[in-house]
Amino acid sequence: MSDRASDMRIIDGKAFAAGLRARVGTQVGALKERHGIEPGLAVVLVGENPASEVYVRNKAKQTRAAGMRSFEHRLPPTTSQEALLAMVRQLNDDPDVSGILVQLPLPAQIGADAIIATIDPAKDVDGFHTTNAGLLAVGGDGLVPCTPLGCLMLLKDRLGDLSGARALVLGRSNIVGKPMAHLLVRESCTVTIAHSRTRDLADECRRADILVAAVGRPHMVPGDWIRPGATVIDVGINRIDAGNGKTRLVGDVDFESALPIVAGITPVPGGVGPMTIACLLHNTVLAACRQHGVEVPVA
Ligand code: NDP
Repeated sequence: MSDRASDMRIIDGKAFAAGLRARVGTQVGALKERHGIEPGLAVVLVGENPASEVYVRNKAKQTRAAGMRSFEHRLPPTTSQEALLAMVRQLNDDPDVSGILVQLPLPAQIGADAIIATIDPAKDVDGFHTTNAGLLAVGGDGLVPCTPLGCLMLLKDRLGDLSGARALVLGRSNIVGKPMAHLLVRESCTVTIAHSRTRDLADECRRADILVAAVGRPHMVPGDWIRPGATVIDVGINRIDAGNGKTRLVGDVDFESALPIVAGITPVPGGVGPMTIACLLHNTVLAACRQHGVEVPVA
């Protein structure tokens, strides 16, 4: 296959995310100018997990770059659940805060479910609160989890109308697999959810026009599990030994063997990853507009 043919199959999430962030920036400018509204995102980090530190720093940087206010709260690893709940309640009541994100994972003494349940659903820009999960399930208008929302945007950008497509979602977590499946049902796809107990997984995959892999197992899906001409969204982020004393990131799909077979595939890195933060900014603008009862500006 020529380099050009390969390039056209790669779904460039990095470029799409940059475009989305620019549109969010335009919307923020319009909200300030027309309504005096300045959306704000509060990010709470408990403890010193190095990966979480990087995520939180990037989120704050991109929030500011989009013209929004960024509120960072760093709490020590010994923080009690009560103290974190008190902070969440304070952010719920703060009119300058449009969106709240508590970075996961949390230290063992804090129950993530209790924290998520306390976030005001209107400010739950991660879309993890059961109210938002329920709204997604019944086709309502809540806040949708950022990673599956980003996957859907990439799919619609590449394929247009998804109606009638056979989709397989590999993984059934509450943050990726399940909301992804609901979003695809909403787009009138015929959806199968596969997981660790699924029988004949390779055959299930081979039937799919759209395959979304969200498992967390490096290179688990080889090219010969993929239907020729399918579109593949690889959510997995796995760090593996690169053999030279270094490590590198790979997805759940074996990109090299999949590329000649697919119509489109997201790379890792540079596919779904950048979409997650861009969708977080998108959700923050949406939340701010709904809280103030104004239309989301067209951008
Ligand atoms: P979870 O561990 O919560 O869920 C993994 C899912 O994969 C489970 O449903 C599990 O099945 C299923 N699974 C595990 N092993 C197998 C197997 N051998 N065969 C079939 N299914 C299997 O992970 P997440 O959903 O949180 O994340 C998935 C991946 O996506 C990870 O690599 C994560 O790093 C990445 N991720 C990337 C993001 C991004 O921004 N790009 C954001 C969020 C996640 P069962 O339920 O039966 O146990």
